[in-house]
Amino acid sequence: MKVLVINCGSSSLKFQLIDAASETLIAKGLCERIGIDGSQLVYTPVGGEKTTKVSPMPDHTAAVKMVLEALCDESIGVVKSLDEIKAVGHRIVHGGEKFAASCILTDEVIATIEECSDLAPLHNPANLIGISACKELMPNVPMVGVFDTAFHQTMPEKAYLYGLPYEYYEKYKVRRYGFHGTSHSYVSSQAAGLLGKAPEEINTIVCHLGNGASVSAVQKGKCVDTSMGLTPLEGLIMGTRSGDIDPAIIEFLAGKENKSLSDIMAVLNKKSGVLGLSGGFSSDFRDLEDAKDKGDAAAVRTLEAFCYRVAKYIGAYTAAMNGVDAVVFTAGVGENSALVRSMICEQYLGYLGVTLDQEANHKRGEALVISSNEEGPKVMVIPTDEELMIARDTYALLQ
Ligand code: AMP
Repeated sequence: MKVLVINCGSSSLKFQLIDAASETLIAKGLCERIGIDGSQLVYTPVGGEKTTKVSPMPDHTAAVKMVLEALCDESIGVVKSLDEIKAVGHRIVHGGEKFAASCILTDEVIATIEECSDLAPLHNPANLIGISACKELMPNVPMVGVFDTAFHQTMPEKAYLYGLPYEYYEKYKVRRYGFHGTSHSYVSSQAAGLLGKAPEEINTIVCHLGNGASVSAVQKGKCVDTSMGLTPLEGLIMGTRSGDIDPAIIEFLAGKENKSLSDIMAVLNKKSGVLGLSGGFSSDFRDLEDAKDKGDAAAVRTLEAFCYRVAKYIGAYTAAMNGVDAVVFTAGVGENSALVRSMICEQYLGYLGVTLDQEANHKRGEALVISSNEEGPKVMVIPTDEELMIARDTYALLQ
């Protein structure tokens, strides 16, 4: 079954066409600058050349139309007709407490996703636009929603409640939800496979370190805690997001800088994290690593603070699960930065008995164990694959 996986943002749309039965990628691409001047489609069929088509895309329907045309194109296409695409799987950021698993996108489900929009005002409306654009162009193709929050719905009350008046949870559902769930789910089950165990047999800490970053505690296959909260702003220091701060800083800074609440929120979301800590130098770890090599003090303090925060969460989640069998690194930084993995493991995981195998730590692109200790938790790198998980869930629901 060929499944089109769609990940729709406010001005971008990422897609992959996957043969879900054999779990093989057929083509992938990205529409950028939707609704803005200079919109373009970047398209790569597996085994073929990457092509870029610059063409106006006034809205997401125009973007999906260009994607479908590329997939069916005589020279660069990968299907003879749209009939070959049997299902569409959509990434949905926030499912609130309503969705603990992926589900078929009926009108009722779509209405419930709309209700969750005030919990993710930047993301859910964009996801919904993607769904309606696909429905318009492929009215008879079944669609499935896969939620970033769903995997974390197994968290116990003690982990998801904040120390706030309980009525805010009752009235507004203010609680920890967590994100990147598709990645945490995929990576934790792959980790068990790498150890030759079932997910129910091990405790795993997944460090999803990308531009957005989160850690999760997965006990016997079920998420019991995660670092992101009501929104993806909480937890680790990220590319441009602050992660955990004292909430009183918001009022303090608003007063000192004469800024509104929304100005301060924009600083916390877009100008903080490693970008902010490095004095505005870069949110990209490649730049930070290069600068650290040259002895740049801003890059050193930024990388130290980032790694320290990750290590603190690993410590907290080891305690939360009363022990850990696997610590896994994934996503852009987690998969690619041998330096970040070294700094975290060598400075902070000695008490668990972890020692790194530096040769394995410098390998790229494969799932592998990078620790050399016999006793204590294994440390691993596992490339994440959120699109494959979306295709898997879509296929499973429509079988
Ligand atoms: P993601 O959000 O998972 O796509 O991760 C993107 C981030 O991964 C980038 O902003 C970089 O900071 C980081 N990254 C990608 N490649 C490398 C690399 N080779 N070394 C260090 N960091 C990398």
